[in-house]
Amino acid sequence: ENGRNMCWEYNDNDSVLSKRHSDAYWTPLIRRALLESKFLLLYQPVVDLIQERISHYEVLLRMIGDDAGDIIGPAEFIPVAERMGLIHHVDAWVVENAIDFLATLPDFMGHVSLAVNLSSYAFQDQTLLTTIKDKLESTWVDPRRLMFEITETSAVDNFEQTRNMIVKIRALGCKFALDDFGAGFCSFSYLKKFPVDFIKIDGQFIQNLVDDETDQVLVKSIVEIAAKLGKKTIAEYVENAALVRKLQDIGIDLAQGYFFGSPSRTLQPSSTISIEALI
Ligand code: C2E
Ligand code: CA
Ligand code: CA
Ligand code: CA
Repeated sequence: ENGRNMCWEYNDNDSVLSKRHSDAYWTPLIRRALLESKFLLLYQPVVDLIQERISHYEVLLRMIGDDAGDIIGPAEFIPVAERMGLIHHVDAWVVENAIDFLATLPDFMGHVSLAVNLSSYAFQDQTLLTTIKDKLESTWVDPRRLMFEITETSAVDNFEQTRNMIVKIRALGCKFALDDFGAGFCSFSYLKKFPVDFIKIDGQFIQNLVDDETDQVLVKSIVEIAAKLGKKTIAEYVENAALVRKLQDIGIDLAQGYFFGSPSRTLQPSSTISIEALI
């Protein structure tokens, strides 16, 4: 196994070593997808549990396969892109296309904002800042309509550089979320070192929250810590109304999951959000 440092994250939804195919299989496919724009962005609503409306949408990447209708999930190719040094290009593609998407929305959707996933490898490279800045400037998109989600990986061996990059991107007006909080080995170091606005609690602590008392203790503690640090909390993998009520009891700020809406090619309107669950 890859043991470059102690911060390697293993979880089942995004497996580190793709079992189906090798790096040699995916690398040319990723290169070609970059050259031919064979990627697709999906948007999943993130709901503000207090204001009872959509807060923003998370951007989720897919690769378009060769066979008609063949859509490949990021767990298959993102880890390969990270290992093969292609992740900077993938992340830049996502950033540019997400900003373009915002730029082309009609005026009445000018309040819509997006959360973009970035590999922590992206922060080891100065070009990320330039990519974000140039694209925002050329499209006139308000930087406050953009949030970035960062996940713990072994790539962050240079906390100082990552921190500096986050500070610079935040200075533009963009927000940051710490994704998969609690799932890795270094969640608290990340929280200590990186200036983020949101803590996104890993779905594994959320899914069974209604019945699991350990999860309740953990999630309540995270909410307390977040409040003391002045950060908002997001729960992912929210799949039913009972869970929504539990999250509201505990005082989670935002929630995302199949209950509210699946990732889709178009923006799901706020009117489709089940309000009964929120009362
Ligand atoms: P993540 O950022 O933790 O994203 C959440 C994953 O949970 C997504 O999987 C989403 O489709 C899925 N999900 C949403 N609602 C539910 C639910 O109610 N229940 C369950 N069980 N799952 C739900 P997806 O789209 O396959 O993405 C997997 C991971 O790939 C993401 O995890 C993220 O780490 C990475 N990823 C996705 N898009 C990008 C990207 O553009 N760039 C980079 N660097 N990584 C990306
Ligand atoms: Ca995410
Ligand atoms: Ca997550
Ligand atoms: Ca994840």
